[in-house]
Amino acid sequence: MCGVIGVVSHSPVNQLIYDALLLLQHRGQDAAGIATDNGNAFSMHKANGLVRDVFRTRNMRSLPGNAGVGQVRYPTAGSSSEDEAQPFYVNAPFGIIMAHNGNLTNWEQLKIEMFKNDRRHINTTSDSEVLLNVLAHEIQEATTGYSLDPAALFKAVSVLHKRVRGSYAVTAQIAGYGLLAFRDPWGIRPLCIGFNETDAGTEYLIASESVALEGLGFRFLRDVLPGEAIFIDIDGKLYNQQCAENPSLNPCAFEYVYFARPDSVIDGASVYATRLKMGEYLAEKIRREIPLGDIDVVMPIPDSSRPAAMELAHRLGIEYREGLIKNRYIGRTFIMPGQNTRRKSVRQKLNTIGSEFKGKNVLLVDDSIVRGTTSREIVQMARDAGAKKVLFASAAPPVKFPNVYGIDMPTRDELIAHGRTEEEVCREITADALIYQDLDALKRAISDVNPALKSLEASCFDGVYVTGDISRDYLDRIEFARHNSKAEELARSQLNLNLAQVD
Ligand code: AMP
Repeated sequence: MCGVIGVVSHSPVNQLIYDALLLLQHRGQDAAGIATDNGNAFSMHKANGLVRDVFRTRNMRSLPGNAGVGQVRYPTAGSSSEDEAQPFYVNAPFGIIMAHNGNLTNWEQLKIEMFKNDRRHINTTSDSEVLLNVLAHEIQEATTGYSLDPAALFKAVSVLHKRVRGSYAVTAQIAGYGLLAFRDPWGIRPLCIGFNETDAGTEYLIASESVALEGLGFRFLRDVLPGEAIFIDIDGKLYNQQCAENPSLNPCAFEYVYFARPDSVIDGASVYATRLKMGEYLAEKIRREIPLGDIDVVMPIPDSSRPAAMELAHRLGIEYREGLIKNRYIGRTFIMPGQNTRRKSVRQKLNTIGSEFKGKNVLLVDDSIVRGTTSREIVQMARDAGAKKVLFASAAPPVKFPNVYGIDMPTRDELIAHGRTEEEVCREITADALIYQDLDALKRAISDVNPALKSLEASCFDGVYVTGDISRDYLDRIEFARHNSKAEELARSQLNLNLAQVD
C-alpha cells in the first residue's frame, strides 16, 4: 500500500505536495518522493525514509514548478531498494513522471511483452515501472505529432486497462501538459479529487485519501470512479472520461479495517463510521458467545482499533479503559530477523498501565490479526501486568489468504489463521478466548455507511480475487519468490551483522 498525490496549481507546489505526503504518511513509511514540473523540466527528489527525513530545505528549493506528483511507499518484500522509490520517470513520449498505489498481478508477463513487442527495457523489479512504460507506450500509440490532447490520453488509458491487471491508483504528470490520474476498473485502491479557488484560478489536488485534501484547505470534489481517467491541463481545466468497458466498484475492505486514517472518507463511506459499525457488530457477536460477566474492561490496542473498541464497550455497557500506551515517537522499528528482536520492538512501541490490568478480566480489541506475533506478545504483556483473564477480539474476520493488491500479506504460511481453526489461533496467541468478526458483518459495517458499496475486495478474508486472474499456481509462485527474497534479506542482514562485528 502506498499514498499518491498529484497537483495542478498556479503557484509553486513543492510545499503543498510535502504537506500532503505528511498527511498520507500512514500509508507508507518506507520511502518518499516528489517530482515537480516547471513547464520546461521535471525536478525530482526521492529516497528511503519518512517524509520528514527525506526532504531537507535544499531538496525543497530544488523542486520548482506549479504542478507535480508525490508518493509515500509502503514496505513490501523485494521493493525496498532506493532505486524503486517513486515517482518513476520516462522521457518519451513528452516526458512522464508517475506515482502508483497498488500492485499489478500480470506485471511479469507485461515486462516480457514490453521487451518483445514494445522494445522497452524495464530496469527494476517494480511493477510501477512496468505500468509507467505501458502508459508511455499507449500514449505514444495514441498520438501523432507534437501535440497532446485529452482524447488521446483517454484512448491510451482505455488500452492500458485492457492490458493491465491488478490494482492501480495513479497520478502522472506529463511534462508541460498537465496531470493525468486514473483508477483501475475494479476500484480497488482509493483516489479522490479536491479543488481550491484562488485568485489565479482553480487548483486541483488528487490524493489517495480525502484527509490530504481537507488538511490542506481543499474542498472534496469527488472520488475518481473505477476505470475513469481525469486530466487537468496546466491551466487548471479538468477533463474526464470513463475508460473501462465494465467498471465495477470493489474498494479494499482492509482500507476501512486498518490502513486509512479514520478522518478520511473513501468511496462515500467515512472510515471512522465504518469502524464504529465494526464495533457494534462485534459487540452483538460477543453478546451471543461470551457471558458478559466474564469481562471487566474493554481495551483497544492502539491506534486503529480505538473506534471499534469504544463502540463495542458502549454497546455492551462495559467499561472502556486505555491500558496500552503507544510511543508516538518511535518512528520506524527495523524489521530484524529473530523472535527476540521482534518481541522487543512490540514492547518498545507499547507499554502497559499496570493498574488497568491487575486482577481484571480484560477484553483486548484489535483491528485485525495478521501474523499473530503482535497479538501473542500483547496477550503476554497483559498477563505480565496482572490480568486475571485475557480475552481477545478482532474487528476483522480471520486473515486467511494472501493479498495480491498491494497489502503486505503475501504468504499463506505467515498468516496465523491460514489452516487453523479459531480455537487453534486462540491457543497460538495464548488468549483465554478469541472472537473474530464475521465476514458478513464486516461487509455490512461498510455498506451500512454507504449502501452503494455492494461489493468489496475482501480476498484476504474470503480468497475471492476480483480481478479473476489469481490461480493457485500464481499464489505458489509469489510465495516461492517471497521465501527466496526473505532468505536473501536474512543472509544480507547476517552479513552486515558480521561486518559490523569485524569493525
Ligand atoms: P500481527 O497479527 O502480529 O501481524 O499484527 C497485526 C496488527 O498489525 C494488526 O492489528 C494491524 O494493526 C497491523 N497490520 C495491519 N496490516 C498489516 C500487515 N499487512 N502486516 C502485518 N501487520 C499488519
